Amino acid sequence: MAAGPRNIVFVGAPGSGKGTQAVKIEERFGLRQLSTGDILRQAVKDQTPLGVEAKGYMNAGKLVPDALMLGLIEDQLTKPAYAKGVVLDGFPRTMLQAEALDALLSKLGWSISAVIVLDVPDEVLAERITGRRSCPQCGNVHHVKFSPPKVAGVCDRCGAALVQRPDDTEEKVRVRQAAFHSQTQEIIPYYEKKGIVHHVDGLLAPDEVFARVENVLGRPG
Ligand code: AMP
Repeated sequence: MAAGPRNIVFVGAPGSGKGTQAVKIEERFGLRQLSTGDILRQAVKDQTPLGVEAKGYMNAGKLVPDALMLGLIEDQLTKPAYAKGVVLDGFPRTMLQAEALDALLSKLGWSISAVIVLDVPDEVLAERITGRRSCPQCGNVHHVKFSPPKVAGVCDRCGAALVQRPDDTEEKVRVRQAAFHSQTQEIIPYYEKKGIVHHVDGLLAPDEVFARVENVLGRPG
């Protein structure tokens, strides 16, 4: 295992379960989740300069330009909150981002401990994403079929009205999947050459996926 904090990267198409697993790792291993999608959505909500620039790309299902993403990741990773290690959920998504992440981590004296690739076929992903309903208040995520809330349309955790993300529609899902295949997938062989990739079957139930992720990461600490 690399010296310094443990840093884990999740790679998977939209809907593969990266966020769900990252939250579980955060709870079990004490590493901090960093979801670039969540940070961007908050920036859009707050109408920060980053949010204003990113909004159009996100709503269209396209990737936000690398220059913006590199600024965001550098701002985040240098925060003390990540000093014990980070679980990256949604970054890197391009080769340029992967190389920039390596450079940034090595500047901090860190490296990536493991890259976990969640494998799920495209046709399954579409159903998972279009049925997803998110809580704009607390970030909790339900699914109309696979994890319905107790009261339809209401967040189990905080009681707010659930919404469908503007990029979780069928049309945008196709654009996001295309972005994954054309821009993100190529980072997998890049990390395979470094010998740090672990493939996990993302079709399994979330707890089963997590059991395999735990096997990869070993005991906490
Ligand atoms: P996610 O919640 O991870 O599905 O991300 C939602 C959207 O945020 C993506 O469809 C992109 O528009 C944008 N985004 C998140 N992370 C990145 C990234 N690393 N590079 C470019 N765009 C990103």
